Amino acid sequence: MMIMKLASRVSMIKPSPTLVITAKAGALRAEGRDIIDFGAGEPDFNTPDHIKMAAIHAVESNFTRYTPVGGIDELKDAIIGKLKRDNYLSYRRSEIIVSCGAKHTLFNLSQALFDEGDEVIIPSPYWVSYPDIVLLTGARPVIVETREENGFKMTPAELEAAITKNSKAVIINSPSNPTGCVYSKEELAALAEVVLHHQLIVVSDDIYEKIIYDDFPFWNITAVNPSLKDLTVVVNGISKAYAMTGWRIGYAAAPEFLIAAMAKIQSQSTSNPSSISQKAAVEALTGDQQIIAGMVAEFQKRRDYVVSTLESFDGISCLEPQGAFYVFPNVESLYGLRCGNKKILDSTTLAEYLLDEAEVAVVPGIAFGNDRHIRISYATSMALIEKGLERIRMALKRLS
Ligand SMILES: *Cc1c(COP(=O)(O)O)cnc(C)c1O
Repeated sequence: MMIMKLASRVSMIKPSPTLVITAKAGALRAEGRDIIDFGAGEPDFNTPDHIKMAAIHAVESNFTRYTPVGGIDELKDAIIGKLKRDNYLSYRRSEIIVSCGAKHTLFNLSQALFDEGDEVIIPSPYWVSYPDIVLLTGARPVIVETREENGFKMTPAELEAAITKNSKAVIINSPSNPTGCVYSKEELAALAEVVLHHQLIVVSDDIYEKIIYDDFPFWNITAVNPSLKDLTVVVNGISKAYAMTGWRIGYAAAPEFLIAAMAKIQSQSTSNPSSISQKAAVEALTGDQQIIAGMVAEFQKRRDYVVSTLESFDGISCLEPQGAFYVFPNVESLYGLRCGNKKILDSTTLAEYLLDEAEVAVVPGIAFGNDRHIRISYATSMALIEKGLERIRMALKRLS
């Protein structure tokens, strides 16, 4: 029998670990086990009705054909309006591209910017897809480990130390997945100095911009220091803010020649994002924004409960995140403990133990580049959060 030989790039990357956990939890559930999923990376709310109506209207009015590759003007204008209204950023249509989710935006910009030999600086803990998206271009991800004492935020000195003559770009993700940390205006200003000095490109992944607590102000680094504008790619989308993960709309704002390059790549791969989703995205960005406040208030209640509950567990400490819908507790002091023949050695064995013993799915921190932590998503109901944390508490009590 002939065996197909796969391209070598396939073995350079791994499947998204968060999607693997969700799939594993789903499989156990299908076997009849009552698994509580704290692994999810998406809001548990439904897409608001007025947005769904816009999509229904798009279908009914036959807005179902190809659109321009980089998105319809109506949506680009809605994005331009949003960037002005929320972020004090000013862009023209030729500086905007719409793609099939922010992940696709990151993929396209990486394909358009990075070559073999380039280095892309990624602060750790990082979102699981950054290193792999970079690896697929042939460039090298350079991981900068941040410190828990600094709220997992990269300092200017840490950034400076990672820069070499091959450095091309740095990725900033605030609020962060997985830590929920948010950079302040002052912290971004200090990083901007280093970036400007070395003329690095900044990829600013602002996807959790709207999910932020205690009125902590969100800043994009280019709004903080406008001289960065020619070096910055703003990446955002509607998945997280409007509970629209399945609609697949993300976008970038960047210098025109980069947007044109991304559009060229998109024209030879996916073409335009779904015409129907684009119409829904226009409604999301231009319609009632109060709906976000309702979701964020609910997330904040859960965050407060999850942080205080985890802090009360022996062997766990948990920083309070200012944004996103995850906590990233430190579980290192559980390492070395055992229950029967099950021994906790690292974040992976702890996640496996919690899945088997507590029937709770969490993501091991190693997936985000930090093996001393786990990620718990609270994008699930308060009732399930209470039940799941109680199960974790009981399972941890069995360790000695
Ligand atoms: C969810 C997520 C994305 C991707 O969102 P899309 O659904 O592809 O728009 C990008 N970055 C981070 C940090 C995320 O958590």
